[in-house]
Amino acid sequence: MKKFYHIITYGCQMNVHESEKIAGILSEMGYESCSSPEEADIVVFNTCCIRENAENHAFGNIGMLKKLKQRRRDMIVAVGGCLPQQMNKAENIHEKFPYVDIIFGTHNLHDLKSLILKKLASKEPVISIPEDDGSICEEDVPLRTSYPNAWVNITYGCNNFCSYCIVPYVRGRERSRSSERIIAEVRSLVAEGYKEITLLGQNVNSYRGELTFPQLLETIANIEGKFRIRFMTSHPKDFSDELIEVMAKYPKICHCLHLPVQSGSDSILAAMNRRYTSGQYLEKVVKLKARIPDCAITTDLIVGFPGETDEDFEATLDLVKKVNFASAFTFVYSKRQGTKAAEMPDQVPEEVSKARIMRLVELVNSQTRSLSETYLGKTIEILCEDYDDKRGMYMGRDEYGRMGYFISSQNMIGKFVKIQIKQVNGISLTGSAVV
Ligand code: SF4
Repeated sequence: MKKFYHIITYGCQMNVHESEKIAGILSEMGYESCSSPEEADIVVFNTCCIRENAENHAFGNIGMLKKLKQRRRDMIVAVGGCLPQQMNKAENIHEKFPYVDIIFGTHNLHDLKSLILKKLASKEPVISIPEDDGSICEEDVPLRTSYPNAWVNITYGCNNFCSYCIVPYVRGRERSRSSERIIAEVRSLVAEGYKEITLLGQNVNSYRGELTFPQLLETIANIEGKFRIRFMTSHPKDFSDELIEVMAKYPKICHCLHLPVQSGSDSILAAMNRRYTSGQYLEKVVKLKARIPDCAITTDLIVGFPGETDEDFEATLDLVKKVNFASAFTFVYSKRQGTKAAEMPDQVPEEVSKARIMRLVELVNSQTRSLSETYLGKTIEILCEDYDDKRGMYMGRDEYGRMGYFISSQNMIGKFVKIQIKQVNGISLTGSAVV
């Protein structure tokens, strides 16, 4: 009899890729994917805890499974990832949701098969949250679901301890995969027909395998075939001139860089433990733009960090105006227990943060819209990624990350397509394919 799995993923690209690894483990065990928990024999929540919202969202959805679990007692419910890896959270999940069968963390995803077998052999819940052992498991074969894009981990964990961030506590210290293994993985993905490779790490710039990050990037850019290379995330303090040179030299490396600045105020950056000033950030942007004028720079911004004054916030607006970001992820500071910032005085009142984020979003959106308007009438090359049923159009992104839509009677997924832009709507562009 066929058995089915359903995975619910929260959070960043790292988690999306880890869900592909979970899918690989389950498929190796004979399970097949299904589209809803109702049809599943095992439901896995791959959780995130970077912000309170993400945590509450996951808790809400785990809670909603209670009735289904009462009807289908043999269905396995597993909760893994960053949320249970936090101190005391696994016990908390077990108390709140006693029907959860398996609780695992970020360091033992590769043990999921044995945890499932243990659960199948016993009535007791299986809770396993190992401390970081510093190892890297190379055995998991992900079941990739994002063709023509493929995610490739190059590092795990983080050593930076930004004062607001929970990641180093739940993902452990930074570990780099061997350059040889990464290069072999990219080679085989390109041979399989993947058209876009995204190298992933909490801070790719501090990658230290046999090669440095710019050397690794250069080696990958020399692999034969038509494909694009992206990487994320870059920490500004480690973003080097050498990397700019490699980006400028190889057309396969997208002219698109995600460089989180977080704040434009030097005192807030210091309190965040970011280890750069706004001046140093701008200097790197100027160097990058001088060498790669068309490079699209995107960023992350936090408002309402403890102690942020009106002047600090104005400094952020000022920096955003100077850089003219292609787009930005904007967040209200979210207090995470266990981090340094959670203990800081002068937490900013919610209504002040809300007013600030509205001003920031308005500024970022106006920059993004103006940039979109420059696309009107231009012909761009996009990599077709998917078909959008609602619009009845194919969609993909250009090398700068801008989304483009077009109509075609043929299946275009995985193809590079030139489209002439006829219409601009916010950040999305619509055009017609140019033969
Ligand atoms: S660099 Fe800072 S924000 Fe990014 S994961 Fe590491 S600690 Fe968190």
